[in-house]
Amino acid sequence: MNEAKVREAICEIGASIFERGLTAGSSGNISVRVADGWLMTPTNASLGRLDPARLSKLDDSGRPIGGDAPTKESFLHRVMYEERGDTGAVVHLHSTHSVAVSCLSDVDPHDVLPPITAYYVMRVGRLPLVPYFRPGDLALAEAVRDFAGKHHAVLLANHGPVVAGSSLDAAVNAVEELEETAKLYLLLRGAKTRFLTPQQVKELQ
Ligand SMILES: [Zn+2]
Repeated sequence: MNEAKVREAICEIGASIFERGLTAGSSGNISVRVADGWLMTPTNASLGRLDPARLSKLDDSGRPIGGDAPTKESFLHRVMYEERGDTGAVVHLHSTHSVAVSCLSDVDPHDVLPPITAYYVMRVGRLPLVPYFRPGDLALAEAVRDFAGKHHAVLLANHGPVVAGSSLDAAVNAVEELEETAKLYLLLRGAKTRFLTPQQVKELQ
């Protein structure tokens, strides 16, 4: 895909995410690896109203070289690219059900959501909870780095998911699967539930 097409794809997917209520206001950000750096959604920009020409462009060393200033959460994206060589895109949302789960005090921080469906196991897998840091605290980048080598999806406590994928579609599909699974988990809390067995999970991995 050439850069013009990638710019259009980011804006199209951003609008779709926003219209479906998967992130609100100016929250959430998207980045995609291109031939000579990265494209990233700008700071204070709503995913619902992105302009292809104003997306931030960063060079290979992460220096802004075009468009509006990048999201203040760009360090979350950088860490994923640095620790996962096969990453083509990163999506971070403040999606309601995932954020709700990230605030629960009784989840397993090593694997927040149980294996409810096969698709969740295949697209997300084990989901660690990254401890809470205040917005803008760069210590959050280092905390994410600790998990990024082993996990393409992490959940930031009291904040939201960060998901890397080989392509923009792969990253978006995985973060949507995560959000739907968080919703199912909340619907099922308190109900007697049959999760996938360890053997069934093993077959999918
Ligand atoms: Zn955020």
